[in-house]
Amino acid sequence: MSLYYISVGSNMGDRFRYLVNAVFDLKKRGIQMQGLSSIYETEPWGKTDQTPFLNAVLAVEWMGEAEELLDILQATEIRFGRVRHEKWGPRTLDLDLIYSDDKSCCTDRLTLPHPYFWERLFVLVPLEELSPDFFWEGQSIHNRITFLEGGQTITKWSHQW
Ligand code: ADP
Ligand code: MG
Repeated sequence: MSLYYISVGSNMGDRFRYLVNAVFDLKKRGIQMQGLSSIYETEPWGKTDQTPFLNAVLAVEWMGEAEELLDILQATEIRFGRVRHEKWGPRTLDLDLIYSDDKSCCTDRLTLPHPYFWERLFVLVPLEELSPDFFWEGQSIHNRITFLEGGQTITKWSHQW
């Protein structure tokens, strides 16, 4: 079994419902949930002229290949109406593989760890809840969050799982 962190986000329609249903759907497909972060509301990153996101991070156990896990995430995105129009554009549901405790990989479909995870407060703030001792390239997640704070707006959402 390997531990993976998955980032889940939505900024279209009933965002909260998309997050809750995504977790339910992933469980149904045999992904074992080890932890759920709180839900946060965040300003869009990369392409900023769109509505705010709800974001969270999930810790899951997975026995198969990382690409098989990505297949499940992408099938779930499509099931919940995800259409890929533009890079970083609005989406009903975005599921990204962030990090694995014992796997890294770079293919044309999957880069692991996710290439932007260390830049994004909407990933790091919920990830710190699940893994407060997380370190990356010699820096603690706590210090990284402190470094990024101010540039990106993130607040805890009023409803939780
Ligand atoms: P983004 O999440 O950056 O807005 P998409 O969700 O549209 O972009 O994903 C674009 C592509 O990124 C997908 O086709 C997928 O194969 C690829 N990809 C590469 N690495 C990862 C990863 N770690 N997690 C999710 N998708 C990834
Ligand atoms: Mg994605």
